[in-house]
Amino acid sequence: MEPLISQKQPSHRLPYSTLLKGPECGKEFYGKSNRIYCSKECKKKFNNSKQAEMNFRVKDQVKMLKRNACILAEFYSVQSNPLMVVKEDLIRKGFIMDSPTIRLKAENGIEWHLIGCYVFRPENDGQEIVIMTKNDLENI
Ligand SMILES: [Zn+2]
Repeated sequence: MEPLISQKQPSHRLPYSTLLKGPECGKEFYGKSNRIYCSKECKKKFNNSKQAEMNFRVKDQVKMLKRNACILAEFYSVQSNPLMVVKEDLIRKGFIMDSPTIRLKAENGIEWHLIGCYVFRPENDGQEIVIMTKNDLENI
C-alpha cells in the first residue's frame, strides 16, 4: 500500500494579519486580531500607567479619609457620647460628605459610615450628623 502523503499540520497562523492600534503609543501595527500591544515595552508602559493612575486615586482617597477622620476627632474630642453636629459645620471644617467609607449596620438595623475609629450617620433629613466611636457602636 502506498504510504499516505504526510499531511502538514494545519498552521494556526492566519494568512493575514490585522491592522491594530496600540492603546499606549497609538502606533498602528499589523498582528493577530487579539493582540493588544505593539511590543512588550508598550504593554509594560500601559500597565505601569494604569498602576500609576490607581495609586494616584488611592492616595487621594486616603488623604480624604485622613482629613475626615481628623475632623470627626476634633468634633468628638470633647464628647464621650454620641454627638450631634450640624452638617454644615462639618463641611465648613472641610469634611467631604461623599468620601469613601466602610458601611456598617448595627444590630438595631441602623447604618453607619466608618472612618478610622469613628462612625457617623446623617439624621434629620441629613441636616445633622451623629458621630460616635466604633467602640460606642459595639456597646449599644
Ligand atoms: Zn505600542
